[in-house]
Amino acid sequence: MPKKGLLERLDTGVVIGDGGFVFALEKRGYVKAGPWTPEATVENPEAVRQLHRDFLRAGSDVMQTFTFYASDDKLENRGNKAQQKYTGAMINQRACEIAREVANEGDALVAGGISQTPTYLTGLGKEAVQKEFEKQLKVFVDNKVDFMITEYFEHVEEIVWSIESIQKMCPGMPICATMCIGPEGDMHGVSTGECAVRMAKAGADVIGINCHFDPDIVLAGLKLMKEALTKAGYKKHLMAQPLGFKTPDATKQGFIDLPEFPFGLEPRILTRWDCHKYARDAYELGVRFIGACCGFEPYHVRALSEELAKERGRLPAGSEKHGPWGDGLRQHTKPWVRARARREYWENLKPASGRPYAAGLSKPDEWGVTQGDDLLKQQAKLTSDEDLKKLWTRD
Ligand SMILES: [Zn+2]
Repeated sequence: MPKKGLLERLDTGVVIGDGGFVFALEKRGYVKAGPWTPEATVENPEAVRQLHRDFLRAGSDVMQTFTFYASDDKLENRGNKAQQKYTGAMINQRACEIAREVANEGDALVAGGISQTPTYLTGLGKEAVQKEFEKQLKVFVDNKVDFMITEYFEHVEEIVWSIESIQKMCPGMPICATMCIGPEGDMHGVSTGECAVRMAKAGADVIGINCHFDPDIVLAGLKLMKEALTKAGYKKHLMAQPLGFKTPDATKQGFIDLPEFPFGLEPRILTRWDCHKYARDAYELGVRFIGACCGFEPYHVRALSEELAKERGRLPAGSEKHGPWGDGLRQHTKPWVRARARREYWENLKPASGRPYAAGLSKPDEWGVTQGDDLLKQQAKLTSDEDLKKLWTRD
């Protein structure tokens, strides 16, 4: 029997996305923090495949190809040699094969993925940017992915160009479009609501926000998008793919601006109970594509699936080893731990960080550097010591 398509699933129920690949695979030693590119699909396909399987077992309905930042210009930016070694086409091709293989082990769909490009930040214009997208899209068409996710854009202009490219290269394929912005709008000062309207106008079927902020902030942004879309007369599905980190102190650039990014974020990790709250809040707001981004591990996604088990009519396979709301603790040896086998305990817990000298919040960097600035331009060579010193002494 053929699988139900994305839009049909969204019309009749809720779709659970997968979690964050670059962050999870960086911690396991297969992705380099800095470039954040996905050459692991060629170098360590078994690691990518296992993470897909873990998310499938956690209840993910979508296997998103591990193709984040796999445009040729990003694969040869600032000393990255991935483009010379493998080519973007090869990395994208392997990603499609692995995602399809695991999707077919369950009822999941395969989503191709594209994201923001250094070519845009360099200011090289529409034609050059779309050329980068279209090279990637050819691989997704050849591999017949079920739908496309264009994600992680800080400028609405660039995501609109990406939507146009998808329409041109992949006619008839559903398009999900998500920007990495919060309620303050994009980096050119376009409001969050207006960003949603422009994505809808360009032809996206599912609209939303991914990465950069925690679930509460992403949902605050989505509320603005929902209001603006309704006002403009668009009826579109909404999509949330937030961080698995708490970011109440983040400003416009999100967690990238936090001093703990990317190697000291651990105290901010969501608990599984935070994920229950996120899933419920998103569902109540009317979001039907409920997914996740950096920091979300399989157990976080399982929590989303468990919270929405009634709505979905099933629990994920991974719940075999997880009693709801701590119920498995009935089997614990220690009586005070058995006493924690109840929902009220975990729902009301305020976990301590265990770091007596840590502040609750940080001060974001807020350099305010964005498109067109020399410091963001694509360059093939690695950042030199001299360049670094200039950054350290920057006012
Ligand atoms: Zn992310």
